[in-house]
Amino acid sequence: MTERSKSTDLEDLAAATTGALRIVEPADEPAADNAPLQRTGWSIRTKILSLVVLSALLPAALVGVVSYLTARSIQDEELSEQLSTRIEVLEEQADRYFDARVDDAEVFANSFVISESLDVWRAAPAGSDSRLALEAGERIGAYLAEVRDRYPLYRELSVYDTSGALVAGAGSTGQAEAAPAPLVQPSTEVEAELERVAGEPLFYVVQKVRNRTDDWVGSLVTASTLDGLWLDLANAQQQARGRIVVLDGDGRALFSSDLYPGTAAAEIDSEGARLALAGGFGIAEYPDQSGEQMVGAYLAGKNLGIGFLIEIASDEAFAVSHRLRDFTLLSSLLAAGLIAGLGFWVVVGLTRPIAALTSGASEASAGNLTVQIPVSSNDEIGHLSRVFNRMVSSLHESRVELQRLSNTDELTGLHNRRQLARLFEIEIERSRRTGRPLSVLMIDIDHFKSFNDTFGHLEGDALLRRLGSFLTQELRATDVLARYGGEEFIVLLPDTANKDAEQLAERLRQEFIDQRRASADPEVTLSIGIATGPGDGKTRDQLVAAADSALYDAKRDGRNRVCVAV
Ligand code: GH3
Ligand code: MG
Ligand code: MG
Repeated sequence: MTERSKSTDLEDLAAATTGALRIVEPADEPAADNAPLQRTGWSIRTKILSLVVLSALLPAALVGVVSYLTARSIQDEELSEQLSTRIEVLEEQADRYFDARVDDAEVFANSFVISESLDVWRAAPAGSDSRLALEAGERIGAYLAEVRDRYPLYRELSVYDTSGALVAGAGSTGQAEAAPAPLVQPSTEVEAELERVAGEPLFYVVQKVRNRTDDWVGSLVTASTLDGLWLDLANAQQQARGRIVVLDGDGRALFSSDLYPGTAAAEIDSEGARLALAGGFGIAEYPDQSGEQMVGAYLAGKNLGIGFLIEIASDEAFAVSHRLRDFTLLSSLLAAGLIAGLGFWVVVGLTRPIAALTSGASEASAGNLTVQIPVSSNDEIGHLSRVFNRMVSSLHESRVELQRLSNTDELTGLHNRRQLARLFEIEIERSRRTGRPLSVLMIDIDHFKSFNDTFGHLEGDALLRRLGSFLTQELRATDVLARYGGEEFIVLLPDTANKDAEQLAERLRQEFIDQRRASADPEVTLSIGIATGPGDGKTRDQLVAAADSALYDAKRDGRNRVCVAV
């Protein structure tokens, strides 16, 4: 193997190994050389965090929804029961009140004063203003006035004869004459009706009056206010939630425990009111007149065409389940926030070494093999980090070794020609900068071929090594010594004038001979050519050529001598 092919092999090896330190790109992707690789997609941190937040939020939300629905249905049931009971009680209360008024009318009508006076009234010739009839009318009027004094809830009491003519009346409506026509001549024994007089609802009862022989002799009409009933209802309402509304057949409020101030007697326009008047009984949810969502129980009265309504604002009715809903919502959000915070803390702790590994790997792939990442744990990631550090530093060592090998001559351990070229440029540049001379020695062993022939190739190698270490010992640390090829060596002497270089060369030549003589080695002589820049050349090639030609002169002049370039 020749010198040249040896050094080429080394360079190739170095290049190949340096290549192996790069990330190997998949074949179908264009090789990106040392460009840092970009990570795409969700990071591990984002993935774990999403999982943590989801697993905190989902069960909490689920429990919240289920408990809300459960609470809501329990409340729904309780409320329905409560409202149903209350509205039935309400209707009973109203029924009792109206029944009592009917009973009153029967009692009043049973008075002998009325029946006997009506007999007298009937006996008097019709249309005559007989004294007897007048007295009978006055007796009835006095009786009615007495009753009215005793029962102030009666606004109007009046008696009509069978033809529908007013016999006597007592009252304050001033509308006695205008008592509803069907009432004046009832078709049944007793009849009742709700009528508004000047906007005020009055309860009218008409009761047939009969004499001793059970003949129909006239009718008693009573008109009572509903104030007593309203007072009862308002009292009952005080302890209970929600509002009570009693509606007349036209959908107008007869009574309302709290709402619609100023709208009493006005039409109430809500789904609840319509249901209450449509007949039947039930619970419904609907917006009331003001748009507020209500839960209402509705019930149609058995007679008089009235309807009952008890309604509670939904917010109030379902306050407990709404509170539960808000509480669960808030607590699940809070829990999720807390868990997310905790998760973030844990995940950051977990993924920080991964991030360090990632950036370390990126740096290493970009060629920086001195990178080391901190090892902060003893788990798998810590182990991975240590392995990574060891791997990168052993790669680094291999690279340094490869570099050293590619710059070193294998046989002598001196700089090889390649490294010499690099150092040569540096020294030329330094010399140019400082203006100091740079001398070059080219040293060649005389008759080396015949040395090889005489002592064998191995001894030749040993001689080359020995010369290398001899020169290393003799030279300054700042001098550059390289094997140029075969049995030729080059020495760069920075900051050394031609004369000084010549002296040094001469000393080296003589010293080498002396040393070999002293150790009784076969005599070997050296020829040395000297060139000094910038005088003999300003470039590497020029200086090497000058030194080479000086060496040629030394050979031509008989070898074992030092020649200076001319
Ligand atoms: P001169 O005095 O003119 O320099 O004669 P020379 O024989 O020294 O020069 P020549 O160029 O004719 O021969 C050089 C020899 O060096 C030939 C080659 O075999 C030998 N050589 C080159 N490299 C090595 C090596 O690495 N080891 C050994 N042992 N010999 C080498
Ligand atoms: Mg030679
Ligand atoms: Mg030679």
